[in-house]
Amino acid sequence: MYGIIAEFDARDLKDSVFEGIDCRWDETKQKFGNGLSGAEAKRKILEMFEKKGEQPVVTIDFLYISADLQHDPAFVQHVNDKLFTPWLKANGVNGEATFKIHLVDSDGCPNQFDLAPQYLWIAGQQTMTRIRMDWTLNCPCHGKAKSDPSCGKGKEMVAAEQLLHTAESPTRVDTAEQAAEVLKRTYAHVRKSIFTKNGIGTLRRFIEFVPAFGEGSVHRPVRGCKTLAGSKPYRQFIDVGSDDGTEIEIRLRSCHECPGCISLSDFKSCKNMEICGPVERVRLLPCAQLPPMQTRSALQNAGKQLCRDLELGDVVSIEVSFGSEVYMLGVVTQTWHTHEGPDVEYPMGGRTKFRLEHGDELICIRKFEPVRAGSTTFRLCTGPEKCFAVFTNDARLKIEPVDFAELSVDRRSARSSENLPEVCGFSYAARYKLTPAKHADLLSINCAQ
Ligand SMILES: [Zn+2]
Repeated sequence: MYGIIAEFDARDLKDSVFEGIDCRWDETKQKFGNGLSGAEAKRKILEMFEKKGEQPVVTIDFLYISADLQHDPAFVQHVNDKLFTPWLKANGVNGEATFKIHLVDSDGCPNQFDLAPQYLWIAGQQTMTRIRMDWTLNCPCHGKAKSDPSCGKGKEMVAAEQLLHTAESPTRVDTAEQAAEVLKRTYAHVRKSIFTKNGIGTLRRFIEFVPAFGEGSVHRPVRGCKTLAGSKPYRQFIDVGSDDGTEIEIRLRSCHECPGCISLSDFKSCKNMEICGPVERVRLLPCAQLPPMQTRSALQNAGKQLCRDLELGDVVSIEVSFGSEVYMLGVVTQTWHTHEGPDVEYPMGGRTKFRLEHGDELICIRKFEPVRAGSTTFRLCTGPEKCFAVFTNDARLKIEPVDFAELSVDRRSARSSENLPEVCGFSYAARYKLTPAKHADLLSINCAQ
């Protein structure tokens, strides 16, 4: 779950954004009902703030649910470019002309620092979207990200739905898409109306599902850029709208207090100059060499070729297009062969079926699974159903032992699986760690589609 907690001047938003505000949660029907019309809700909200003598600033949470667990620059860029920015353009009172600046206060996830591809993307926003972006990074672990409680509560809502599960009325949530559907029903509105909270807190939530593969999924890799030398201590990155989208202004800390600092128009007379430092303009160097995009047939042919050379005990990655995974790792338990005899079909979870026809090129693997969803630490799966045939054209990369090292053995699991024999030298009791570089490689092997 990736959250954007957005603050708007209510006057800038179309009536439809306020549709259903002040609704009540109906425990029997398990849904919200009896909300106000959009126009009525907006009018009442403006009235309430006017009475308080305050600007009508409302908070709206945008929650993006995905089985794609890589919240890397590609994910952040996808959510903004494909979902959030289009929402702004569609829901501003004056359409595309409504919003001019997007001020971002992002939590300081350490991998966002010194991240030239992300700066390059910020530098191109105004040129691309006509909305100028100003991005401030908090210090790692210290920024109290406003999205944390909203996302945390959302996860609780999904967990609560699981608890309601009975055989007669099944509510079990198996996929990210189902989780998004649950949240759209149970979490799009707040249980305590904005009017009882006197205008404070979340007004409402918009929930969207981002598929992990296929149409609407995150495109990787993103446009590359050479490291911006010395950029690590900088926390503010200001889009200046240069024609080629490569210039950016950087500052040690952001101010956002002076009128000029808020409107990104004049930093010279900043009252916090001593703390924030001057604004410097730098030019980013996009990588001339972008990783080549590969067509599906080129990837499939490479997979077929790879499988002819695999030996027993090799670890291989397989592209998957079902469930919550993007790739799957397995140890080869039977080398290249073809399926002989009649066609067979077996279920693959959900509606997906795996169908083998005479002459299909195959290898067999025993699967490794991550210890937690999204983790790069793996363990060997037990059980007969975790050893199966895969099509050679879905094979992507051979993982060398140096990229998949054994971690120290966990005593508890060692006991429970001590009687199981090893599989080609891999122990059920062990944990194996995939290097981040190889993990990134596996995520970036996406065909051009
Ligand atoms: Zn200032």
